[in-house]
Amino acid sequence: MTATNSGKDGVVVRIDARRCIANAKCTTAAPGFYVLDEETGVAVLENQEAASLQQLFAGARACPTQAISIEQYGRRVFPQILTPMFGDAPDTDGSSD
Ligand code: SF4
Repeated sequence: MTATNSGKDGVVVRIDARRCIANAKCTTAAPGFYVLDEETGVAVLENQEAASLQQLFAGARACPTQAISIEQYGRRVFPQILTPMFGDAPDTDGSSD
């Protein structure tokens, strides 16, 4: 399952629950925006409208498993190379659904 959040400037943040290992690196990098869901333990994004692009990217860059990807105007801008997970189909178009 991938949580998707759409925000300002055409920015879409996706958090892939299969990649999230709940180590809270993103929540440390951008506290108050990336938070761990109390039930699932997986990171979710809150208050995206209040977050700056720098904060969104800081959380994404902090993630060691590339669970957080960021698109702008329909193109993935982070990470530039998304390493496939075992069992994944090749990601050729930049979307990860
Ligand atoms: S840094 Fe990545 S793996 Fe860690 S909690 Fe955040 S999304 Fe999950």
